[in-house]
Amino acid sequence: MLTNRPNKLSLAVLPTEFRLLKRTSEALGGPRIWLKSDDQTGSLLSGNKVRKLEYLLADAISQECDTVLTCGGLQSNHCRATAAAAARLGLKCHLLLRGKQARTTTDLKEMQPEAFPEGYEGNLLLDTLCGAEVSVFSAGYYAKNLEREFDRLSDEYAKRGQKCYAIPTGGSNGVGLWGYVDALEEIRNDCERNGFTPDAIVCASGSGGTQGGLSLGAHLHQWPVPIFGMAVCDSEAYFNNKVKEDITEWVKRYAPDEEGTSLSNLSVATNTIDAYIGPGYAVGFPELFECIQWVAKTEGVVLDPVYTGKAFYGMVQEIKTGRFSALSDIVFVHTGGIYGVFPFKGAFV
Ligand SMILES: *Cc1c(COP(=O)(O)O)cnc(C)c1O
Repeated sequence: MLTNRPNKLSLAVLPTEFRLLKRTSEALGGPRIWLKSDDQTGSLLSGNKVRKLEYLLADAISQECDTVLTCGGLQSNHCRATAAAAARLGLKCHLLLRGKQARTTTDLKEMQPEAFPEGYEGNLLLDTLCGAEVSVFSAGYYAKNLEREFDRLSDEYAKRGQKCYAIPTGGSNGVGLWGYVDALEEIRNDCERNGFTPDAIVCASGSGGTQGGLSLGAHLHQWPVPIFGMAVCDSEAYFNNKVKEDITEWVKRYAPDEEGTSLSNLSVATNTIDAYIGPGYAVGFPELFECIQWVAKTEGVVLDPVYTGKAFYGMVQEIKTGRFSALSDIVFVHTGGIYGVFPFKGAFV
């Protein structure tokens, strides 16, 4: 059916574990909640970004690039996974990060930890341990000049004879989508093995690639299971549109002869819920931290406050009073984020 299935590296530990969250499901008295543990795609390489990087970095290598550029927040899981994967593959990595104050790798090395209240710990610490160069920009500068900084760095590396491969925020584009197209197939096998078809699959949405890949995968496999992206930033309209854009790029690149060259023909269903972002991206609220603690002690599963905690919290609310209350089986995709928990240590009581 697909004309150009691209190369893929093997970086993730797959298939990931799939199990019923028995005590949580019983406590809520609603649908059975199944956990797809993509937090266990690896240790340092943990989380959902690894599945995307298997395709993105294969693309980088096939283009003979030796340096990877990518971007994200200061505690970006995607950037940490990219730094670790690059080190594993012998590629150079340079990260463009959004912080409060501008810093470079050299600043970080010379600075006492207490001089960096934003936290030289968690993912950021791992980035530099893995040898990534880091450029931190103030949020305002980052918002305006990210593209320019990508170009500037690419030029700089080119002058030194290095060829850069640029990965967008969260690895979400037509190439990265493949990771969760594959994951959808894995989840379908998990469900079949356990003898059920889920009524919904829920994941956190930050840059949309996980939701997009799962939605596209369900469409391609003609598996009529709705995929719900729980937004952790941005609106429902934003994510529905972002998913469509990525899929349009995917179609152009990999299925140009398909009847669905325009997405209106391909008609992949998109479902985003944006009611559980709270005060903002990477900003928590008391009920969120309570929910994370409850799941940790009930199931031995640690969710993170930026992504998976909000998605899980949103799912619980929808089970209690909303659109998930009458369902039988939900698959929750745990997309990782363990290292992002530590900078929030003060929020847990
Ligand atoms: C990036 C990330 C997400 C969001 O996935 P997207 O594909 O960017 O929407 C969810 N959970 C964790 C832990 C992440 O790091």
